[in-house]
Amino acid sequence: MPHPHVIIIGAGLGGLCLAQGLLRQGVDVSVYERDDSLTSRRQGYRIHIDGHGARALARNLPEHLYELFLATSGTPRTSTPVFDHNLGRPAMLEPSGDDVHLAVDRLVLRRILLAGVERVASFGKRYTHFERNADGRVTAYFSDGTAAVGDVLVAADGVNSPVREQYLPQARIVDTGLRQLYGKVPLTAETRGLFLDEMFAVFTPIIGPNRNFVGVAPVRFPEPPAQAAARLAPEVPLPDTQDYMTCTFGARPEFLPCDDDGLRAMSGSELQAMTLEMIEGWHPRVRRIIEHWDTETIFPLVLRTSVPIDPWPATNITLLGDAIHAMSPAGGVGANTALRDAAVLGAALGEVAARGKPVADAVAEYEAAMTGYGFENVRVSARNGQRLLGQDPLPEA
Ligand SMILES: Cc1cc2nc3c(=O)[nH]c(=O)nc-3n(C[C@H](O)[C@H](O)[C@H](O)COP(=O)(O)OP(=O)(O)OC[C@H]3O[C@@H](n4cnc5c(N)ncnc54)[C@H](O)[C@@H]3O)c2cc1C
Repeated sequence: MPHPHVIIIGAGLGGLCLAQGLLRQGVDVSVYERDDSLTSRRQGYRIHIDGHGARALARNLPEHLYELFLATSGTPRTSTPVFDHNLGRPAMLEPSGDDVHLAVDRLVLRRILLAGVERVASFGKRYTHFERNADGRVTAYFSDGTAAVGDVLVAADGVNSPVREQYLPQARIVDTGLRQLYGKVPLTAETRGLFLDEMFAVFTPIIGPNRNFVGVAPVRFPEPPAQAAARLAPEVPLPDTQDYMTCTFGARPEFLPCDDDGLRAMSGSELQAMTLEMIEGWHPRVRRIIEHWDTETIFPLVLRTSVPIDPWPATNITLLGDAIHAMSPAGGVGANTALRDAAVLGAALGEVAARGKPVADAVAEYEAAMTGYGFENVRVSARNGQRLLGQDPLPEA
């Protein structure tokens, strides 16, 4: 198949990175995203990029965009301090052995990933279902009544993936038993002093009674993003984002004063007030950090995980990222795993275009690799979450 057409559902980190890799190899690709733009929905702020993520970006991005990624990535301290709520001497978790630890802003990274992909991406297109055609191709349908036909369909549509629900109905998504509030503390001359030097690490958990916790992680741009873009890739509209600490509060639902709908209905100020009540008696420095939350940025998330499944026969439909292996954030590798998928799948589909490799063979190779490291990361993340944060154990498949 010399000119396969690849349809990607979802313009998140994994879908955009795959599109970059395919365009780089001259493969014909279209991306369909349900949101109207990259800023339609709050998705979190800081992303930790490890060696797998960085190597995938190096492989799939054009050189100048990879340079821009590096120029907008902060370098946090590599060892992780784990404090108790009195901020006693922290236990130090040594680095994973990975050679790369970068802290990036999600929106900055997504804008870099979208550069050059805009011409093949359609926003405001909610995918609904697929049908297999008599000629072996696949038709993807959208909620606006339109459809697209391709040789390969890639689900990069996140944890609630409608592609996965139809294609692999045996794959389950379950509650981790963790709820988190996410927000930012802008890093200014005034707020810098709220944070101990050790807290400028990849991620610093401060764990209190019932394993309720506050977590902080820095995003410090080596150069203002807009300025770096003007220097390296003027076509990328990077926001004028300032340095910040991402700051999260996490708890099991039984310790929270309201249910998930109640959390979603609360304003940023109400979520902040609730958190301050929940950390009554904690070290004054932790309380001051929460008092400095930018209330406009706070939102709640119900954290869920996939449950690993047995292999399935390879076809011309496949999945990447959270669509197949959503995982607890306790491992900090969900995005890195999605980027890794994009590099491995991109290379496999490149072989289809360049050497006429059968699509099912390319997908089989990708899925054998992806289900190995992807489901292992789901298991390791769940164990970390259980040990540190009181996450529920993963159910049996
Ligand atoms: C607050 C937070 C912090 C995190 N921090 C880290 C971190 O530090 N390091 C790390 O490795 N991971 C982190 N993660 C996990 C990481 O964000 C995810 O694993 C990663 O975004 C997965 O990428 P993805 O492309 O698979 O899915 P997503 O990035 O979720 O993208 C899926 C896309 O599909 C679109 N979509 C969904 N349904 C449809 C539809 N029907 N039609 C069309 N489009 C659709 C969505 O709108 C979205 O744009 C964090 C997650 C959260 C929530």
